[in-house]
Amino acid sequence: MANKETIFQVRNLQMWFPIKKGIMKKTVGHVKAVDDVSLDVYKGETLGIVGESGCGKSTFGKTIMMLNQPTGGQVLFNYGGEFKDITKFTKEELFQFRKKVQMVFQDPYSALNPLKKIYTAFEGLINHHLYTDEEDRKRKVEDALREVGLLPEFASRFPHEFSGGQRQRIGIARALIMEPEFIVADEPISALDVSIQAQVLNLMKKIQKELNLTYLFIAHDLSVVQYMSNRIVVMYLGKIVEVADSRTLYDQPLHPYTRALLSAIPVPQIHQEKKRIVLQGEVPSPINKPTGCAFHPRCPHCTEICKSVDPALCHHNDSDHLVACHLYDKQAPEA
Ligand code: SF4
Repeated sequence: MANKETIFQVRNLQMWFPIKKGIMKKTVGHVKAVDDVSLDVYKGETLGIVGESGCGKSTFGKTIMMLNQPTGGQVLFNYGGEFKDITKFTKEELFQFRKKVQMVFQDPYSALNPLKKIYTAFEGLINHHLYTDEEDRKRKVEDALREVGLLPEFASRFPHEFSGGQRQRIGIARALIMEPEFIVADEPISALDVSIQAQVLNLMKKIQKELNLTYLFIAHDLSVVQYMSNRIVVMYLGKIVEVADSRTLYDQPLHPYTRALLSAIPVPQIHQEKKRIVLQGEVPSPINKPTGCAFHPRCPHCTEICKSVDPALCHHNDSDHLVACHLYDKQAPEA
């Protein structure tokens, strides 16, 4: 991106969930869902996050929105050039912050109350006292529905009267009505039919362009993430293992885990050869992570140092391509 104004600065973020046992509910361990993650998110970009389920991508999204109170680290948000640590915010400050960040959920049906008309799904407007006049509020809801390609009269219908794609459009409209700067889209199309996935993705792109929104786009479908994202973060067991712009990551993946993930994407041409890298073993438990590089038990390039020293996330050849792997500590070997 030419203009790299930062909207979020995440520093050494940790989100550990305690495991409690016994009558006294003693803490016997932690699930380290997000473990020492540092990252900048730039204004106007779509930052994709990929990784197997349990890698911490959804927890990361929720934690930077302060839906989880982080165990450690900082989440700095850009307030007109001044960065404020939202992990230190009071209840009132958080309430105000939540106007700026919104979430689009995976399952558009469970995100809506089946007993209430669509209009009530926009209660954020009421909670935040944005439109106290009933008529203004109604008009705003209708405008938001129009923005996502729905009819204004849909506001007086119930969720079951809509298709999955329409419900997800309502979910997007609900996020947009708060006029946010940043949207976390957590698997926004995985519950939709393939035939309407593209419609929702294109709608999100169109709205982003019009409103200069920043997206954190979480998905397990690598082709979808490539289509949507300017930059992509690859996570493994709560840590970032690679970050690069979308094209570089797909054309020249460095980390052995990224290479294995990308090798699993089907190619459209049946005559095109593609070598699939099949990883051995299961994803280790985030409760008891392997020492050194967490990927070492499954890595075909593992060496002695990998078993004891956790590789830092470093710039590859002084570029914006970041990778955490001992193979690239000095000079990248031939792929
Ligand atoms: Fe594989 Fe070692 Fe790189 Fe980890 S650090 S990905 S084990 S080569």
